[in-house]
Amino acid sequence: MIDRWGREITGIRFSLTQKCNLNCIYCHKEGENTSTHELTAKEIERVALVGAKLGIKKIKFTGGEPLLRRDLKEIIGAISPYYEDVSLTTNATILTKEMAEDLKDAGLSRINVSLDTLNEEDCEKITGRNCLKDVLKGIESAGDAGFYPIKLNMVLMKGINEKEIEPMFKFAKENGLILQLIELHTSKEGSLKDFYRTYHTDLTQIEERLRQKSSKVVERSMQNRCKYFINGGEIEVVRPMHNTQFCSNCKRIRVTSQGELKPCLLRNDNHLDLKHALNAPDEEELISLFKECCLRREPYWR
Ligand code: SAM
Repeated sequence: MIDRWGREITGIRFSLTQKCNLNCIYCHKEGENTSTHELTAKEIERVALVGAKLGIKKIKFTGGEPLLRRDLKEIIGAISPYYEDVSLTTNATILTKEMAEDLKDAGLSRINVSLDTLNEEDCEKITGRNCLKDVLKGIESAGDAGFYPIKLNMVLMKGINEKEIEPMFKFAKENGLILQLIELHTSKEGSLKDFYRTYHTDLTQIEERLRQKSSKVVERSMQNRCKYFINGGEIEVVRPMHNTQFCSNCKRIRVTSQGELKPCLLRNDNHLDLKHALNAPDEEELISLFKECCLRREPYWR
């Protein structure tokens, strides 16, 4: 599937639930409208298989907190044979070694863990709970189960954790992890607008400093991200705000936990409800909804 801007859809990001055991102050909730309805494992499998049939190669599971889905292992086991890359983004607070091994056996290829700070007080301020020890244990479990590389997602916030890049990088390097610095983002009319005004930090200077220290810089075509290699460690920078290049390289569609196709993270006025199609005996309606979703895609920043 190629959209009207020539972007081939190669990735799909599934939100599996809106439930979360943390309450991060910056969370965009994957751009979902509030709902208590969740797709069943069978429905997720059907939608994912149609995506694979239409040429999508990468799938990512998110939430809410995806580890709260008791059927996560079954979901991954069912869809993994159809995808080249199956990944998960999690806060890892409840990730045990057994769980991580089960997910690996089911076909999960990669894990991203959200970790914004190594300071317990800041952790509580950001997530609503002092869960730092649990997250660190979760990261260890993922490593013990053989996941490599594990990426740490660190959302940068002015006056909260922007000074922590160095200790976070040191921690990542010592533990063989990749640090991903993520620019705080929101849509033009999103509910995080006021939060964004106070806490958004521009990553231009940070990136410039990383560039100067790097022995190698690699630009990933996907969303135009740069990877910096510094003293044996690796940092990736994700800067979506007002970034036309980021949008022009976006190759991903989304599925909300309640069962809608979502053409863009930052818009929630153009979703396509999958309910009717999921009750149909064949895949035709699902296929046309995927195609319509592709047609509705347009770069948010352009
Ligand atoms: N609970 C899971 C977790 O913690 O990874 C999955 C859901 S969380 C919404 C997925 C990712 O989105 C996390 O890495 C989080 O840091 C990132 N994220 C959420 N809101 C954001 C925002 N406003 N700006 C930048 N990144 C954000």
